[in-house]
Amino acid sequence: MQLLMPTSCAFAITYKCNSRCVMCNIWQKYAENPLAYQKEIQSDQFFAFVKKWSTIKSYNIVGGEPFLSPYIKDTAIFLLSNRKDLTITTNGVLSSKIINFVTKLNKFPQKYGISISLDALGELHDKMRGKRNFYEKAMQTLEKLIQVKENGSNIRLSIHFTLAPLNYNQLWPVYELAKELKLGFRFNFMAYSDFYFENKDTNMKFNETQFNIIEHQINKIIFNERNGNPNGKLEKRHAHFRAMLAYEKDHVKNMLCTAYKTHMYLDCYGNIFPCCFLNQKVGTIDDSPEVVWTNEALKKFIRCDCKCNICPHWFESVIDVS
Ligand code: SF4
Ligand code: SF4
Repeated sequence: MQLLMPTSCAFAITYKCNSRCVMCNIWQKYAENPLAYQKEIQSDQFFAFVKKWSTIKSYNIVGGEPFLSPYIKDTAIFLLSNRKDLTITTNGVLSSKIINFVTKLNKFPQKYGISISLDALGELHDKMRGKRNFYEKAMQTLEKLIQVKENGSNIRLSIHFTLAPLNYNQLWPVYELAKELKLGFRFNFMAYSDFYFENKDTNMKFNETQFNIIEHQINKIIFNERNGNPNGKLEKRHAHFRAMLAYEKDHVKNMLCTAYKTHMYLDCYGNIFPCCFLNQKVGTIDDSPEVVWTNEALKKFIRCDCKCNICPHWFESVIDVS
């Protein structure tokens, strides 16, 4: 039987973060021990990983805040030079660094993605991110990136929205903004992870009224997108929207997850996980792909499918539709 190997990887290039988000505690990881980040892998170690894991065609660089990594530029250049699909998810506040970065990458003919996290319009975004003026800064970056794009750069620009009880009514306004600016848009419900987001103890629950308002906004988005452009890709995207809501609201499990089958997670210390929500390490960057993807730890992860092959957080249907 042919071995199922991952084709896409989320890589947390650093856990350093300049936000103080209410729904994620990554920013606390180095608070007590700031020098712990020295254990993060260096770019040459990541490059060796990319060469070894040749089945992976697509990388999503996440964090922490990726633009705090000293390796972000070299990493992006390496991935594009090796014809990998690349998306970087950022909070967008390091504006001049980001603009400088995209200017340097202009020489590459292929497209790559920059996804700016935006959780609300105005001050509520700052509340979600725990820092004043973050909305203003993220918007300034977006506006500059749009200009760069209009001047012929190959960026795929999108907005990434995280839905939490605090911003339950902002899904439609942020979606509308994305459409107005002709950007891609994707959203997720806030997710929990004891080893990645370290937010398992966060007790944020949506109430019935909030769920109803979220449902109304999702229906509005679906109606709006279907009107303009009905196609199979959209159907898949909308099925995912509904599945996320059904799972969060009624714990209905109606989509299969792609963790380990096509996706994997690499943390900034070189540890490999099939999924970033479950603390089940299956190997490190020093191991060979064939060994990691056939070892006992991976088999154990696969066996637990009946318990976790359910959450709607990690699906191929999370696509950007500009
Ligand atoms: S959600 Fe992103 S920006 Fe916010 S604390 Fe977590 S890693 Fe940092
Ligand atoms: S269903 Fe399980 S394995 Fe898949 S993304 Fe969710 S927690 Fe991870």
